[in-house]
Amino acid sequence: MAKYDIIHSCGHSRTVFLYGKHNERERKIEWMANQDCPSCWAAKKRESDALKPITATISLLPFPGARGHVPVFQIALTGGTEPRKEEIKALGYKWGGICGNFMEMLSFSSHPKGWVRKIEWITDDEVTASIKALAPLNPKVVNNIKPWDVVLLKQRQAMHQAQEAAVSAIPKPERPACYPVGRWNGKIYGGFRIYVDGEEVQLNRADAQAILVYQTAMASYKEACVKVREQVA
Ligand SMILES: [Zn+2]
Repeated sequence: MAKYDIIHSCGHSRTVFLYGKHNERERKIEWMANQDCPSCWAAKKRESDALKPITATISLLPFPGARGHVPVFQIALTGGTEPRKEEIKALGYKWGGICGNFMEMLSFSSHPKGWVRKIEWITDDEVTASIKALAPLNPKVVNNIKPWDVVLLKQRQAMHQAQEAAVSAIPKPERPACYPVGRWNGKIYGGFRIYVDGEEVQLNRADAQAILVYQTAMASYKEACVKVREQVA
């Protein structure tokens, strides 16, 4: 190993340590001397990236959204986004890692970064509207949704619909008119005392009874919903 001072083509100098055979080192030194230093290289890259058109890549995420089996698609903006940053933010995009589709998720390569928005795919209107909103940025739209993604999507949508149908078939207990309105921890103290928005409220015997019956019915209703969702999944 030896230490070398390199003068880059941008005029900046840098000390590097090189290994290997003498002639290989010479070649490396010559090559580096013809390049810009790393910080100038990065600055030039940022500049040329800013001039690039914006690319909007649409893909389907391999995992469902927070609400059961509702599929989620992602729009990732890459390329010359820097000068249009504020507009992109105003459209609800966040800077971060770009998730790949199902096949890309299985690879171990690191995920690139960009401006990302994740949207629930309930009908195709969500996709169309999200792309339309990007019109002022004039992006190149790349559809990265693969045939197997669509298969997955259809499966998930069918499962979601089946679950919702099964859940809606379970009768939902009716909330009694005397049910407290406001912030309440759901607890009845001493058989009749409750606290709503921090204030003590006294229930009469019939109302306390009706609330208890409703709470019990709600608990079994929720249990039944979970069970039926699991059965359909
Ligand atoms: Zn430089």
